[in-house]
Amino acid sequence: MPPEKNDEHVGPDEHGGPDGHVEHGGPDGHVEHGGPDGHVEHGGPDGQGVVRDGGQDALRDGERGEGADDAPDEREADVPDPVRAPWHEPMRLALAEAARAPETGDVPVGAVVLGPDGTVLGRGHNAREADGDPTAHAELIALRAAAHTQGGQDWRLTDCTLVVTLEPCTMCAGAAVLSRVARVVYGAPDPKAGAAGSLWDALRDRRLNHRPEVLNGVLAPECAALLTHFFRTPDTDFGPAPGVG
Ligand SMILES: [Zn+2]
Repeated sequence: MPPEKNDEHVGPDEHGGPDGHVEHGGPDGHVEHGGPDGHVEHGGPDGQGVVRDGGQDALRDGERGEGADDAPDEREADVPDPVRAPWHEPMRLALAEAARAPETGDVPVGAVVLGPDGTVLGRGHNAREADGDPTAHAELIALRAAAHTQGGQDWRLTDCTLVVTLEPCTMCAGAAVLSRVARVVYGAPDPKAGAAGSLWDALRDRRLNHRPEVLNGVLAPECAALLTHFFRTPDTDFGPAPGVG
């Protein structure tokens, strides 16, 4: 993604160099390539099913202690996806967050919140073990950090995007709705506890007056691979643990 859209919103904390250009790639590209129409077409139920299958397989394989990560990688490489591709860089930031979680024995789930111009306003990773807090999911931490970054003057994260490596649980999907984010982008599905299409669809419930856009399956194999690796590691005695996203 060309860096021409980098602008005055780049802050000293999150940006400050060429890296900032990369972080701007997602939303700008999304507007150019996807737009509302493209999003619905590719991110809706049809596209969801295809991508979810691959992610589920990876998760299940991890639970069984087996490996089958090659197939999803090949599938993603073979099929151009102009809707999801612009979100790869923000998702990689979320993946980097997720990778920090195991340091404290936490399940590797990571999230970032992007401002309207793509600036990273908040980031976080699952910290239930680190904080002894059952609600310390990556999404909540990132959403709180984003509101804090905004100066605490407005809790609304209007026009912001929540990017998370695993499908949000009911708590985090609810938090996304309450925060008024415009969009939720996630990687791997969570067939056991996902509330963005798998078990529930709290983000697109027509009874709610705020419904974020949803785009799933962004770097799903990579996101799932972090989890499968974590659950394969003998030192981690957590087993399949629904509701970590
Ligand atoms: Zn959650």
